[in-house]
Amino acid sequence: MNLDKQIAALQADLNAAIHVTYLTGAGVSTPSHIPDYRSKNGIYNGISESPEQILSEETLFHQPAKFHHFVMENMYFPDAKPNIIHKKIAASCNKNGTLITQNVDGLDKKAGNKHVIEFHGDLYNIYCTKCHEKISYNSYKNSYIHEKDQGIIRPGIILYGESINEKILTKSVENIHNSDLVIIAGTSFVVYPFAQLLTYRQAKAKVWVVNNTNISTSNGVPTIIDNAEKVFDKLYI
Ligand SMILES: [Zn+2]
Repeated sequence: MNLDKQIAALQADLNAAIHVTYLTGAGVSTPSHIPDYRSKNGIYNGISESPEQILSEETLFHQPAKFHHFVMENMYFPDAKPNIIHKKIAASCNKNGTLITQNVDGLDKKAGNKHVIEFHGDLYNIYCTKCHEKISYNSYKNSYIHEKDQGIIRPGIILYGESINEKILTKSVENIHNSDLVIIAGTSFVVYPFAQLLTYRQAKAKVWVVNNTNISTSNGVPTIIDNAEKVFDKLYI
């Protein structure tokens, strides 16, 4: 099937859907110039380490300078703007849908999406690990130590080795279960347990994948292998 026909088929399913769930990842934010941090290594004191090693509680508490350096260099892009994918998904969710995103950049909320589940948390939900006081991005940018009590400051994102919040997990499963259409976009869909969410869908639910490469889940699922920005631009929502 050519691209236009595939998009028309996706559009028809979208028009007929009662409730849509979107599952998104880094590929949705790369057109907003946010690089996928999973593909970045941190170089600190001349030593290169994987994001899995750096984005851990171990590094946060025992090498806080390294942790802070990595997130500031590779994850925070406060001037980034939502792109057409965020905007179209926001319009669709505000009508009859929910977005469950792996992204921690806050761009879906910036796009006005009122039904966002941030599966891995939010980079801008910054707090002191000692007193739990909220900290502004600008204060965190300047220091990872809370002046008041010397507590280490952290972003409210799920670090490697930490579990997904139970409420978030339950809400995500409920949403998938109550949807008759699931659209997976901009994710290689390999991160556990996010990728498992799809197993909670109704048997009759339709599933689409929009990604620049094939993903393992796309077995038997209609898949548009193309630039997600181009595809969403053509969807009428
Ligand atoms: Zn504090």
